[in-house]
Amino acid sequence: MLNIRIEKTQAPKELPTKENPLKFGTIFTDHMFIMNYETGKGWHDARIVPYQPIALEPSAMVFHYGQEMFEGLKAYRADDGRTLLFRPNKNAERTNRTNRRICIPEIDENDYIDAIKALVKVDEAWVPTKPGTSLYIRPFIIATDPFLGVRPSDTYMFMIILSPVGAYYPEGLNPVKIWIEDDYVRAVKGGIGEAKTGGNYVASLKSQVKAHDAGYSQVLWLDGVHRKYIEEVGAMNIFFKINGTVVTPMLNGSILPGVTRDSVIQLCKNWGIPVEEKRISIDEIFEAYQNGTLEEVFGTGTAAVISPVGELRWEDHIMPVKTGEIGELSQKLYDTITGIQLGKLEDNNKWTV
Ligand code: PMP
Repeated sequence: MLNIRIEKTQAPKELPTKENPLKFGTIFTDHMFIMNYETGKGWHDARIVPYQPIALEPSAMVFHYGQEMFEGLKAYRADDGRTLLFRPNKNAERTNRTNRRICIPEIDENDYIDAIKALVKVDEAWVPTKPGTSLYIRPFIIATDPFLGVRPSDTYMFMIILSPVGAYYPEGLNPVKIWIEDDYVRAVKGGIGEAKTGGNYVASLKSQVKAHDAGYSQVLWLDGVHRKYIEEVGAMNIFFKINGTVVTPMLNGSILPGVTRDSVIQLCKNWGIPVEEKRISIDEIFEAYQNGTLEEVFGTGTAAVISPVGELRWEDHIMPVKTGEIGELSQKLYDTITGIQLGKLEDNNKWTV
């Protein structure tokens, strides 16, 4: 059990009111978790303190060389009042996978989950109750050595902050329009694409702005070498249902291994739906669209769980998918995963904690 010192705030903030629809990532709870690392000493001084600004040297390595990682998961309020986490062990595992790739010292995965549980417990009153709402959990690690030079830092801070968030789709699932990027690339095999680190997101901004300006909500990336194979969306993995089979890009080192992706694959397999993780070219998708076998397209991620895709744009081709309708599989996956997250459905896989 991780030993955590708890210092409660003397000035609790007002909880968001029910009338105020919650926006994503704009309000933060009363407390935060911090733990420090120093070479020779390891991770130490775990504490929960009032949410507040932190002081860092302007020379702190994170500002210059981007040695940092982050995670994202949610706590949900079940009807019976329990607060549930969804597969937090997967985020702990992925944190250490990211850490290994960018030379951040690993964290004991049980300590990591203990820290999340302890912080959520302290701020449990902030877990919203309205349907579709949740408490977003953002663990992150930054390199703090005051040093200008490229090498792994000797000191780090691991922090967790919490943010109550509203329903992603307040009026039910809503199809999104996706821009397939054929100019910029996000990541290449051998790079840091599979790590959850800021560098991948800054690499995506330019293209995201371009897509937004053209009326598309997210970018779908193609591989960085051939510019031909499908990778993932800005903050989601991508699935296609083609002629009855569910296909998704295999994990190849340049895409993020999503927790929702893994859950969708397991559920489809349990339901007897054929699932293939493989290399998929954009030509195959275009061909399936043209011959009418592209039945459904959806993204998967913690924020929206399932995001049905209503339109794909690739070069000059506009491909409407299931115009105006939500695919049957997308809806069933959404209902099942959110049902498990909220403790409404039997959790046969023991995903909730
Ligand atoms: N890909 C990227 C690039 C992401 O940022 C995310 C969100 N974490 C995902 C996929 C989906 O992962 P998850 O299902 O674990 O949220």
